[in-house]
Amino acid sequence: MRTPFIAGNWKMFKTVHEAVVYAKEFRSLVKDVTGVEIVVAPPFLAVHAVAEALRNSNVAVAAQDLYWEREGAFTGAVSAPMIKEAGAEFVIIGHSERRRLFGETDQAVNRKLLAALAANVGPIVCVGETLEEREAGQTLAVLDRQVRAGLDGLTAETVADLVVAYEPVWAIGTGKVATAAQAQEAHAHIRGRLRQWFGAHAADHCHIVYGGSVKPDNIAELIQEPDVDGALVGGASLDVKGFWNIVMKSQHAQGPQGTPGKTGKS
Ligand code: PEP
Repeated sequence: MRTPFIAGNWKMFKTVHEAVVYAKEFRSLVKDVTGVEIVVAPPFLAVHAVAEALRNSNVAVAAQDLYWEREGAFTGAVSAPMIKEAGAEFVIIGHSERRRLFGETDQAVNRKLLAALAANVGPIVCVGETLEEREAGQTLAVLDRQVRAGLDGLTAETVADLVVAYEPVWAIGTGKVATAAQAQEAHAHIRGRLRQWFGAHAADHCHIVYGGSVKPDNIAELIQEPDVDGALVGGASLDVKGFWNIVMKSQHAQGPQGTPGKTGKS
């Protein structure tokens, strides 16, 4: 029903030169792909060069973070209008590495989300529980807290346009992927909350993608689940052929397109 959305998060990998070499090869590999929305998220420094290398292609660019102020004395920070002008159509917000290593709170996630929307940059908002939280039976409560606080103040219309990434922290970069059933349970729960808090249109149109050790050999099973609308891929997106493979295996996974995509390029 929702066009599969596949985004590659390169984290702190690739120089500008390496990123452009990848982008040029990737654009030619996926040039005939339809029915999948494709996004790559290079480090800040490479956003502009990658966006240029992908101009007029079917691949959009995301930044990996932003700061909520427009400009000012915030050394090291980058704002939503800055990434937008550099060519980012999307931005990853609240990745667990930012929450864990940089102390990002749900409130910071919310401010960043509002700043992205104000600049017309599409947020990819990450939520997910730690292993400890899962083992304590707190997974759904943690998701409730992160979704409620993160999306505070959003309208139903903006929620419909969002991408939410369910990324169990224990599955990120560990090689331990959630089972399709675990992913579906979490995604269905999030969609249920979106329906309850923002209405049916928002819940049905919002993309909920899975992240956590997605690879060419497990994407097909995950994306068959009715509430898994794509993937946020870390490590496996660094290899151009591997990421291409993931895109190919997501193609038409959810049948005829029922709702418009987010990139406007699929
Ligand atoms: C990520 O960085 O969002 C991620 C899911 O990483 P990996 O695919 O490497 O687990």
